[in-house]
Amino acid sequence: MISGTSVSKGIAFGKALLLKDEKILINKKNILKKNIDKEIQRFYIGQKKTIEQIKKIKEINKKKISKKEEEIFNSHIMILEDYEFENEIIYLIKKKLITADYAVNKIINKQIKTFKKIKNNYFKERANDINDIGKRLLKNILNYNILNLNYIKDKVILISKDLTPSETAQLDLKKVLGFITELGGITSHTSIMAKSLELPAIINTYNVTKIIKNNDYIILDANDNKIYINPDLSTINLIKKKNNIYIKDKKKLQKNKNLPAITLDGHKVSIFANICNLHDIKFIKKYGAEGIGLYRTEFLFMNRDNLPNINEQIKSYKYIFKKNKDNPIIIRTMDIGGDKNIPYLNFLKEDNPFLGWRAIRISIDYKEILYNQLKSILLASIYGNVKIMFPMITTIEEIYYLKYELKNIEEELKIKKKKIKKNIKIGIMIETPSAAMMIKEFAKEVDFFSIGTNDLTQYTLAVDRGNKLVSHLYNPLNPSVLKIIKKIIDDAHKYNKYVSMCGEFASDEKVTLLLLGMGLDGFSMNSSYIPQIKNIIRNNKYKDSKKLANLILKQNTLKDILNCLKINKFK
Ligand code: PEP
Ligand code: MG
Repeated sequence: MISGTSVSKGIAFGKALLLKDEKILINKKNILKKNIDKEIQRFYIGQKKTIEQIKKIKEINKKKISKKEEEIFNSHIMILEDYEFENEIIYLIKKKLITADYAVNKIINKQIKTFKKIKNNYFKERANDINDIGKRLLKNILNYNILNLNYIKDKVILISKDLTPSETAQLDLKKVLGFITELGGITSHTSIMAKSLELPAIINTYNVTKIIKNNDYIILDANDNKIYINPDLSTINLIKKKNNIYIKDKKKLQKNKNLPAITLDGHKVSIFANICNLHDIKFIKKYGAEGIGLYRTEFLFMNRDNLPNINEQIKSYKYIFKKNKDNPIIIRTMDIGGDKNIPYLNFLKEDNPFLGWRAIRISIDYKEILYNQLKSILLASIYGNVKIMFPMITTIEEIYYLKYELKNIEEELKIKKKKIKKNIKIGIMIETPSAAMMIKEFAKEVDFFSIGTNDLTQYTLAVDRGNKLVSHLYNPLNPSVLKIIKKIIDDAHKYNKYVSMCGEFASDEKVTLLLLGMGLDGFSMNSSYIPQIKNIIRNNKYKDSKKLANLILKQNTLKDILNCLKINKFK
């Protein structure tokens, strides 16, 4: 039995499937003249295999892909079949007497370099195509096992060193029962995605990809942070019983899902849902959310090859707004960067991506993104009770600029006689200490605040939220983070502003009373956590939660805070 950090509740039983991300090792070695034909043959076999694989992926995804994506697959095949490409490789093998993989690698790098030199988006995309196709071709020449998530046949538990948020978003839930990774952070977007998909997940496991083998029978008990490898029958039966109780309890809590989040002494707060995509909408009703407190629109921009255009965005927003007609919906402009990469935007490699070109900084610099997104939101606004929220704000100038842009787009739409909602409320996420220190000034500019503890914790403590090496230092219960949260709430109330929390901290049942006592007006979380949090609020007194908050805010160390909360470990 091994353990790690449980990031998304639930228990899964199934066979292990290992995802190996192998580094491609190219053979630099020279070959003898007599082996030329053998090397050319290796190239041809790899080429044939690669073309077949791409055709198969295209075929499997026929119904899911757009015309544009189909063209990309076709262009990949064309590159592989290109006569000049083939000839250059064969020429190198013959003249320079080098291995097929070395020759392919050389030609691919040369082509990527040439395309990258041309300052034009079309050629940048071609460089990406060559890179993609080149890697696949090399792996096939070297006989690496290429695993495509589309090929998964049986129900499995994925075991991997790491998973990116976009890979997680792509998982086929009919086949994937849960996942275990070696890396990751509790508030990384992969973990957030796992919650949103209701997939049991444990991260931060030591060497799991070496310990677990393909087809091992696994019990992934994310409720208890335990992973059983080929357990005996009595363990299987025991955990199955435990799972039945867990499912029963969950259903029982759901019965009260539509009751208000009101304490025994009459203090009411709001409970909203965090959503990542259209798939999450069904959970809003299922778990009794009073609206959407955070719609992470960046997932609309992932797993595709170009920016979503205005019509595509309107379609998605309209769908969400219509499904939640009267409930408030806070739509956050896209928050790309950090751990959420978008290959087609060709980001430069940054040493500190979380401190770099991320979220609102990209929207402000990449005008087309902001303009199209705000315009789409406005054009869909008549269909729901929408509010707009901006992520990762650090300066007042940013909000001046964003409001100015929004006003311009409103004017433009008015002139075109388009119907849009009037006086849409504007809010910002408080995720940086700089924003937290300026609540008074921001209060003059915006209607509401939402505390993003996932980032606020990392920026306050200078601890990368996804870095395993410093994960023991990442804790929103750290007294400095709690003091900042309290300051944000108090300052927001001083200027009569509504303040909620949409970081993962808001869904932690161990701190619900603490946050309530600190004066938070609203909690926004992954829907499946709502019944439990409501249950805690409904069964306690506000008066007592205030006492608890006062006591905790007097503590100077994390250890003392944990003692006060009577917990030994946070998550
Ligand atoms: C946060 O930082 O707390 C937040 C909700 O935003 P995200 O997790 O998407 O960065
Ligand atoms: Mg954030």
